[in-house]
Amino acid sequence: MFKPKCIYFEKNIENFELGKFLLEKYKDIPKIEIENHNNIEEMRKKPNSEFINMKTNLIIGTRKTHKYTPNHKVSDFLVPYTSSGCSAMCMYCYLVCNYNKCSYMRLFVNREEMLNKIIRTSEKSEKELTFEIGSNSDLVLENEITGNLPWTINNFVNSKKGKLTFPTKFDMIDDILPLNHKGRIIVRMSVNPDEIIRKVEFGTSRLENRVKAINKLAEAGYKVGILIAPVVLVENWKQLYSNLIKYLSEQLTEKAKREIFFEIIFMTYSYVHKMINNEAFPNQIQLFDQEKMTGRGRGKYMYKKEIREDGEIFLREQLNRYFKGKTILYVV
Ligand code: SF4
Repeated sequence: MFKPKCIYFEKNIENFELGKFLLEKYKDIPKIEIENHNNIEEMRKKPNSEFINMKTNLIIGTRKTHKYTPNHKVSDFLVPYTSSGCSAMCMYCYLVCNYNKCSYMRLFVNREEMLNKIIRTSEKSEKELTFEIGSNSDLVLENEITGNLPWTINNFVNSKKGKLTFPTKFDMIDDILPLNHKGRIIVRMSVNPDEIIRKVEFGTSRLENRVKAINKLAEAGYKVGILIAPVVLVENWKQLYSNLIKYLSEQLTEKAKREIFFEIIFMTYSYVHKMINNEAFPNQIQLFDQEKMTGRGRGKYMYKKEIREDGEIFLREQLNRYFKGKTILYVV
């Protein structure tokens, strides 16, 4: 259970139900009032070596911008929702590209405003829309603090139509199992070989527990997908990913396998990751591999085309072997 060492909060959070709840829940935790969650000068000035300590803070405010980004993968829109950032520390975390070392967890207490906008957009649309609400954080982890997932699901499924989806690397899903979700929630579990989880995805749930969570969600009638993400091409990657896919085929229940679908995302990396990881985790694995990676503009790196293609062919073969006929929505 994440227990913040210090809370930075915007004064007006006390005007919101969730804000009041959090102030009461953390009444014994030291607090610092801030003007704006986006610009905490004290944090911006800290050295990269402070990254791990910075992740122990919790920032609470209100979300001011609510711009939807069209999306054409699992959802129709990426929607800013109740949190951004995260208290875990995956060494490749995409949020570091946006927030740099300030990718600690921020909670936004104006959840009614955000959910109402989703519902209005959904009900106005002729087409049945799916909204990705977890692209800025991990909502299962956030739920441990806020209880926002049952709140969201219960309120959303009372609306006329539409679906919500979110990815996670965590197994604490028991809260949502008994809910009457009406088949309108799609949970996508992100998986990696356990060796990569241990060496790279610090603070997340272990593979075995993620797989158990998939089985429980499927049993509770949720539609569940599997994200093999991000694929990290360490030296023995073929062996690791083949074992992972075989393990999934052995451990998932028949019910979970029946409707499962896959997404595959290869790791991207950046100069900012390199700087933070070198200073915050000096003895850990080096994810930047000059032999295998190439620039992708503005300090970003991706796997070279032919290496990525080899990876894609291999993973498709393995999925075809162990999950014949199951949909692979996309490989990026
Ligand atoms: S769990 Fe997700 S959001 Fe959190 S650090 Fe890892 S990749 Fe980032």
